[in-house]
Amino acid sequence: MTITEPTTTATDLDAARADLRARLLGDGVLIDLGSPGLYGRSGVFERVYQAVDAAAVRSQADLDADVLRFPPVEPLASFERTDYIASFPDLAAAISAFTGDDRTHRALLAARERGERWESFLEPADLMLTPAVCHPLYGLLTGTLPAGGRTFDIVGDSFRREPSLDPMRLQAFHMHEFVHVGTAASARAHRDGRIARLRETLESFGLEIDVVPANDPFFGRVGQMLARNQVEQALKFEFVTPVYGPDHEPTAISSANLHEDHFGTSFGIRTADGDVAHSACLAFGLERITIALFARHGSDPVSWPANVRAALAL
Ligand code: AMP
Ligand code: ZN
Repeated sequence: MTITEPTTTATDLDAARADLRARLLGDGVLIDLGSPGLYGRSGVFERVYQAVDAAAVRSQADLDADVLRFPPVEPLASFERTDYIASFPDLAAAISAFTGDDRTHRALLAARERGERWESFLEPADLMLTPAVCHPLYGLLTGTLPAGGRTFDIVGDSFRREPSLDPMRLQAFHMHEFVHVGTAASARAHRDGRIARLRETLESFGLEIDVVPANDPFFGRVGQMLARNQVEQALKFEFVTPVYGPDHEPTAISSANLHEDHFGTSFGIRTADGDVAHSACLAFGLERITIALFARHGSDPVSWPANVRAALAL
C-alpha cells in the first residue's frame, strides 16, 4: 500500500507567509513596527493603496452614497449595541487612560522603574477601538428612514486584536464600506446586486477572484452555531484571492454582508413604512487588496502589467 503524503502542510503555508512578509519588508514596502500585524508604510505602498481606494470609489460611484467619516474609536455605548463583544470578544480592544492622583502616578512610576508592567494603573475610558467602520453609523440613524432608505460611503480605521506574522492579517487596517440601510428587499438588493461589479473591479487589478460564503471566526461554542447560521443563511460572501498559491486557502480581500434586521433592531431604526430596517454593506479591505497586488505583481508598480496600471490609474 502506498501512503500519499499531503502535498502541502501548515508549515508550507507559514513559509509562504514568511516569504511574502520578508519580501515586503526587504523591499521597504512595509516597515516592521515590532508588533505582529502593525506596519509602517512606504511611499510606494501608499501610492498603490490610494489608487486602490480611488478605484473602489469609482466602481461604486453610481450609488451616489453620502460620505461619512468617523474617528478610529467609538463610544462604549454604541459598541455595546452592535453586540460585537458577544461574537468576537477575542478581537475586541478597549482604550484605557490614567485617571489617578499624584500618589497613584508615583506608584506607576515606581513599578515602571522596577521594570514592571504599569498598564494596570490605567482605567477603562469607555471607548473601544472600532472593529468595523460602519458601526458608528447605526446610532445616527435611530428613528425613521426616508423612503428608499439611505446609502453611505464610509472609510476608516479598523482594529482587531489578531496579531499574526501573515502580512495579510493586520491588527490595524482600513476598510472602505458602502452601506445601505432600508427595507429587507433594498438591503438584499444592495448586497446581491453589487457582487458582480465588486468582483469585476478586483479582477481588473489582475487578481484571480472567487466569491465564496464567509465563515467568520465567531468565538466559542455559541460561535460555532453563529458561524453555521452565517453559512446556511448565506448572510455574507467574501471575495477571495489565492495570495499564497493554488495549494493554500485563498484570502478574503473584500466582503458583501447582509445584517438583516440586526442593527435595525439594536439601534431602533425603522423604514418609512414603519418596519424594522435592514442593512447591508460592501467592504473593500484596502491593505489586503494592496498587499495582494504586491504579492501578485511584484514590489515595483512601475513594472506591473499595463492593463492593471490602467485599471488603477497608476
Ligand atoms: P469583515 O468585516 O471581516 O468582512 O472585513 C472586511 C474586510 O476587511 C475583509 O474582507 C478584509 O479584506 C479586511 N480585513 C478583515 N480583517 C483584516 C485583518 N486582520 N487585516 C487586514 N485586513 C482585514
Ligand atoms: Zn459594515
